[in-house]
Amino acid sequence: MEKICVAVRVRPLVSGDSVNGSFWKVEDNRISLHRIHGTPFSGSCYAFDHIFDESSTNSSVYELLTKDIILAALNGFNGTAFAYGQTSSGKTFTMNGCETDPGVIPRAVKDIFAMIETVMSKREFLIRVSYMEIYNEEINDLLVVENQKLQIHESLERGVFVAGLREEIVNNAEQVLNLIKAGEENRHFGETNMNVRSSRSHTIFRMVIESKGKDSNSSDDSSNDIVRVSVLNLVDLAGSERIAKTGADGVRLKEGKYINKSLMILGNVINKLSEGSKQKGHIPYRDSKLTRILQPALGGNAKTSIICTVAPEEVHIEETKGTLQFASRAS
Ligand code: ADP
Ligand code: MG
Repeated sequence: MEKICVAVRVRPLVSGDSVNGSFWKVEDNRISLHRIHGTPFSGSCYAFDHIFDESSTNSSVYELLTKDIILAALNGFNGTAFAYGQTSSGKTFTMNGCETDPGVIPRAVKDIFAMIETVMSKREFLIRVSYMEIYNEEINDLLVVENQKLQIHESLERGVFVAGLREEIVNNAEQVLNLIKAGEENRHFGETNMNVRSSRSHTIFRMVIESKGKDSNSSDDSSNDIVRVSVLNLVDLAGSERIAKTGADGVRLKEGKYINKSLMILGNVINKLSEGSKQKGHIPYRDSKLTRILQPALGGNAKTSIICTVAPEEVHIEETKGTLQFASRAS
């Protein structure tokens, strides 16, 4: 069983908010809440595998947290990387990035094709990409607008799969990045507020990586004959914030309930997995669509990392604590 790597990333102040009462202090792999002119608050110190402070870059997050998963995926191991956190804490920034500092997804895509050309050049690859969202426990294909409310099926041959989901065969990084861009546009089709919808749904970017030795006959390495297939999921989760019961209208309340439930189940699954083989017992993958879809690439030999993003502002202290508690349970 692979250990799940859990990290926290603090985003810089973006709202122009100044800090006046208390602030989060990062020291090595610890984060704690401090009074502005003094002591730390008791019970508010947390430690993780890595903590990325305000000045961290997507490049460093990718190198420390995702690169190994990508390498393993090229070598036939399944992997999943998640971004978890409240809305506006930096999940999408971490996964997608910006022009000057591309996020985990574009870096992974570029690295995969670069490695296929170089270190993996003795093997022949077939790569398929899909892109989907789970919104109110409904699976929608982001590559094909008409593919809505897709169902999860299971067969001996394919295992668990999303029936009807488009899997596009891709040959280079640029093609993949264009598909993602088109997917983003599809998602917002008919939406008035783009940001609201995307923060209310889980987004799963998936690559299925298949390879075999280019010249298996003349090879003296018998592992060259073996066809390897792996699944890589890069997931931007829905915002983890609690929806206030008062003030939320019917739609928001319904979304909030689905999100809270599926994130809770994800937490339970990851918690069970991180407890190790000792007392794993039943792992509730089937309790939500998210965990069911990710099941083959969560646990077992799969590599998993979670980046928990938090906002530094004082108004977000309670949500930040909630995220750090989720991260603690996952470690
Ligand atoms: P989320 O996806 O969690 O809702 P976003 O990634 O959209 O949050 O981030 C909210 C805002 O903060 C965006 O404008 C984003 O560009 C900015 N932001 C987030 N993280 C960083 C960071 N590490 N450095 C600079 N800007 C960031
Ligand atoms: Mg987002």
